[in-house]
Amino acid sequence: MDEIIEKYALKNAVEHDGRAEAKAIFSKVVQEEPSVRESVAFAMKRIQEIVDQVNRLDISSQKVRLLKIDPHILDKKEVSKKELKLPNVKGNVTMRYAPNPNASMHIGNARVAILNDYFVQKYGGTFILRYDDTDPKNENKRPVKEAYTQLQKDLDWLRVYVHKESRASARLDRYYHVMAGLLKKNRAYVCTCDAAEWRERRGAGVACPCRMQSIYENERKWSLMLSAELKEGHAVVRIKTDMKYKDPAQRDWVAFRIIDKPNHAMTKNKFTVWPLLDFASAIDDHDFGVTHILRGQDLAISTLRQKWVYTYLGWDYPTTITLGHMGFVGPGTFSKSLIREGIEKGIYTGWDDPQLPMIASYERRGFHPNAIRKLIIDAGVTGGKISLSEEMLAAHDKDLIDSETKRYFFVKDQTRAKVEGLEDISEVTIQNHPTNEALGSRKVNVASTLYLNREDLANIKKSKKTRLMNIGNVVKKDAKTLAIKGDISVLHNLQKIQWVNHEGKKCVVLMADGTTIEGIAELAAAKEKIGTTLQFVRFGFVRLDKKTPLTFVYAHN
Ligand SMILES: [Zn+2]
Repeated sequence: MDEIIEKYALKNAVEHDGRAEAKAIFSKVVQEEPSVRESVAFAMKRIQEIVDQVNRLDISSQKVRLLKIDPHILDKKEVSKKELKLPNVKGNVTMRYAPNPNASMHIGNARVAILNDYFVQKYGGTFILRYDDTDPKNENKRPVKEAYTQLQKDLDWLRVYVHKESRASARLDRYYHVMAGLLKKNRAYVCTCDAAEWRERRGAGVACPCRMQSIYENERKWSLMLSAELKEGHAVVRIKTDMKYKDPAQRDWVAFRIIDKPNHAMTKNKFTVWPLLDFASAIDDHDFGVTHILRGQDLAISTLRQKWVYTYLGWDYPTTITLGHMGFVGPGTFSKSLIREGIEKGIYTGWDDPQLPMIASYERRGFHPNAIRKLIIDAGVTGGKISLSEEMLAAHDKDLIDSETKRYFFVKDQTRAKVEGLEDISEVTIQNHPTNEALGSRKVNVASTLYLNREDLANIKKSKKTRLMNIGNVVKKDAKTLAIKGDISVLHNLQKIQWVNHEGKKCVVLMADGTTIEGIAELAAAKEKIGTTLQFVRFGFVRLDKKTPLTFVYAHN
């Protein structure tokens, strides 16, 4: 029995930031081992002991132990009924997600990561996280140190399981080696032409003189590049393709350039000769045995470019599946340069600002990661354009979390109202969820003065009863006074309004449109742990973001 308990304790811990909760584990253990019902007290004691042991481990040790007990336990992601297929599968697949670590991930990036993960889970095989960090020059593409860990965090949260990790900037020697081979085969050359002049030649489909130089001359100049005797802008290495090729982008494209002071996030100024992404990623896909590549339509040019290199080296190109454009109707923008600008100007507080479609933003708003997974998998793998929206995402999220989320009272734009007739009631017991009893209940003190929403109070009619939730029916005596009226049995068709007592805590809710709503939340909500998702009755789902000042972030209604 201990192993079953340990398995579920580890799983629960891995899914909850490394902290397992004993009460979440009992039902799982019963499912697998019904006999524990005969000695519940003993089982609970043992569960608590094992949970304590598990919680002493850090999350990566927990993961390792868990996968030793059941290597597939984290694979069970029956999130979507939709069945997706890859062409050309022979046994296991090896796939990669290759972000540029210059920013955290938005929901469009997550699409590629989730689909790769889906197929690796489905067919078995290897998911490679590869940092394509080869552009330290371009201001908007420069790798940023924090982004490496943020991407890993985003993937963890999305429950994407990474089997192998690599970083292009750690493999420059390998790329140099491959280039040396191409130069020797006369399939590449060092070009020292002026960039603008070369562009003109390219447009006209005319080769430059460098294309004709000897292998010896190319190798000599290549070593001058590597020894930093040739400086930035004075030489590039080009792949020999076809200067008459219909699409000029294919004509003798650049594989390496010199960057004198890259000040790269990981390698600083150690290397000054940098491969272009198309070259580095082509080599990596081959070296890591990638079988299938999912890539956006915008990278069709890359596929064609890389095929020249594969042909010259006698390699087989992986099966490529093109993903059409993904439109997303939601907050903010996908443009990382605009987001960066917005952060600098103070429009956004950071990459996890609720106004953005970033994975970190959805995490901060309390969405369930499987809502994103379902949205992506339901949309399928297609070369055509797909249109998704936050509205669809919110609907999936609600399906997932509604029955598991505690409901609390929150009153915005609050005002005090006197309630007469409460003398006999000192506290009420409120179910934390109307149907899920496992979420428990809470006792709330009732006093003769309560906070109500200003508009709710104004709308209470003198003649018509209104229900103060969990207290009773009231009528209005004057603008600021209500009175309990008669029976408190549930009456249908009554307007039901929530309230907060004097113990409530003032708070703010950050909305996805950048606005802030002020109000008062009941004490029990304020006492929840940071990171808890809850539902504010008649308001929507929120996540407790921080305690001082008490701040919630809005998810959806
Ligand atoms: Zn040239």
